[in-house]
Amino acid sequence: MPNRRCGSEKLDRFALDANAGEPAREEALEAFVRVAREAPGNPSSLHRNGRRAQGALEDARERVGAALGAPAREIVFTSGATEANNIALFGAAPARSRLTGAAVPLVASLAEHASVVGPLRRLQQDGHSLALAPLDAHARPAAPALLALVAERRAQLVALQWANNETGAVQPVEEFAAALPDDVHWHCDAVQGFGKLPPATALARADTLVLSGHKFGAPKGVGVLRRREDAPLDPLMAGGGHQGGVRPGTESPALATAFAVALELALAEQPEWSEQAARAAAELLAALVAAGVSFQANHPAEPGGRLPNTLNLTFAGVDGRALLVACDAEGLSVASGSACSSGAPEPSPILRALGLTKELAKSSLRLSFGRYPPPGLGARAGERLAATVLRVYQAGFH
Ligand code: PMP
Repeated sequence: MPNRRCGSEKLDRFALDANAGEPAREEALEAFVRVAREAPGNPSSLHRNGRRAQGALEDARERVGAALGAPAREIVFTSGATEANNIALFGAAPARSRLTGAAVPLVASLAEHASVVGPLRRLQQDGHSLALAPLDAHARPAAPALLALVAERRAQLVALQWANNETGAVQPVEEFAAALPDDVHWHCDAVQGFGKLPPATALARADTLVLSGHKFGAPKGVGVLRRREDAPLDPLMAGGGHQGGVRPGTESPALATAFAVALELALAEQPEWSEQAARAAAELLAALVAAGVSFQANHPAEPGGRLPNTLNLTFAGVDGRALLVACDAEGLSVASGSACSSGAPEPSPILRALGLTKELAKSSLRLSFGRYPPPGLGARAGERLAATVLRVYQAGFH
C-alpha cells in the first residue's frame, strides 16, 4: 500500500517547493534501512558479505532498468543529477573529440539547468564551440530552431532537457528526437519529468539520460545516469573500475534500492498525482484572481504543456526579496526567481532568457506542489499568497 502522506502541508506551512526536492517517502526509507542492515558489505568484495551487497545493488539496477525500459547494464548510479550531468557531458565531448581528432560543436537550449550549462561552458573554454538556442516566453526552445542550429553548427552533442524546473515547460522532446540525426549525441536532463509527466517515448533516443532521486521521494544523495551502450564516454574520474569505470567509487546498495523503490512508486502513481497537483495549481490561481492580485504567468497555460504541479508567477512592481521574506514569514515555502549566491540575489538566468527584465525576474515566484495535495490546499495557499503579495505591495516594497 503506497504511503499517501502529504508533503504539501505541515504545521500550517505550505510546502510549495517540491521541484527543489521532495521529502523521502517511507517506503524508500524502509528499503534503505533494510538493505543497509541486511547487505552491509562492499559490493566489490569477493566474500559472502560482498556478494550479498552486490546482489542487492544489481537487483536495484535491474529494477531501475526495467522502469526506464533499458538494459540494467546501461544504468549508472551517481550521487545525484549534478554529478550525472557532469559525467555525461565531460565524458561525451572528449570521447567524440578523441574519435574525430577535432573540437566538438555543442548545442543546448538556454533553458538548461546550471549543472548542464556549467559543464558546457567549461567545455567551451577548453576549445569546443557552444551555441545556445533562444526560448519562447515560457522557457521552451522551438524544435525546428534547435534542429537548425544542430545542422548549421554540425553539432555532435546537444542538450535538451525533458521539462524546465522553473517554469515547468515541457520541452519539445518528441519533435526534436524524431528529426535528430542518429549520429548526434543527445543528452537529456530528465530530472523534473519523472513522476510528474506521462512517459515520453522520445527519451529512449537519448544517448545519456539523467534522473535525481530526491525529486520523487528517494533520499537525497542518489541519482542515475542511463547511458546507451553505444555512446562513448571518457571517464571523468580515475581510480576504480566500478560501474564500468564510468563512475568509480564504492556503490551504495541501500541508496540504489531506495531509488528503485521511489521510482517505481512515482511512475505508478503519476496519473493520479498529476491530476491532484493540477487541481491544486488551478485552485491557487483562482484564489489569486478572486483576491484581485495581478500577475503574469511564466508557465505555459496549456495543461499538457507543463509540469502539472508547477506555477511561475511575476508580480510586477513588488520587490522580490521582500516578497520572499514575507512568504517565508507567512508560512509559504516558495522559490524565488533569484538564485542566491554570496547573499546577493541574482535574477534567474532562465527568466531573463525568456525575456523578463532584471526587476521582473526578481519579482517572480515558483510554486511547486508536492505529492498528493488534498482538495482545498491550493485554494488556502492561494489565499495566503494573495494576502502576502498585497501586504508587501501596500507596505511600499515596490
Ligand atoms: N537538473 C534539473 C532540471 C534540476 O531541477 C536539478 C535540481 N534542482 C538538477 C539537475 C540537479 O539535481 P541534483 O540536486 O540531484 O544534483
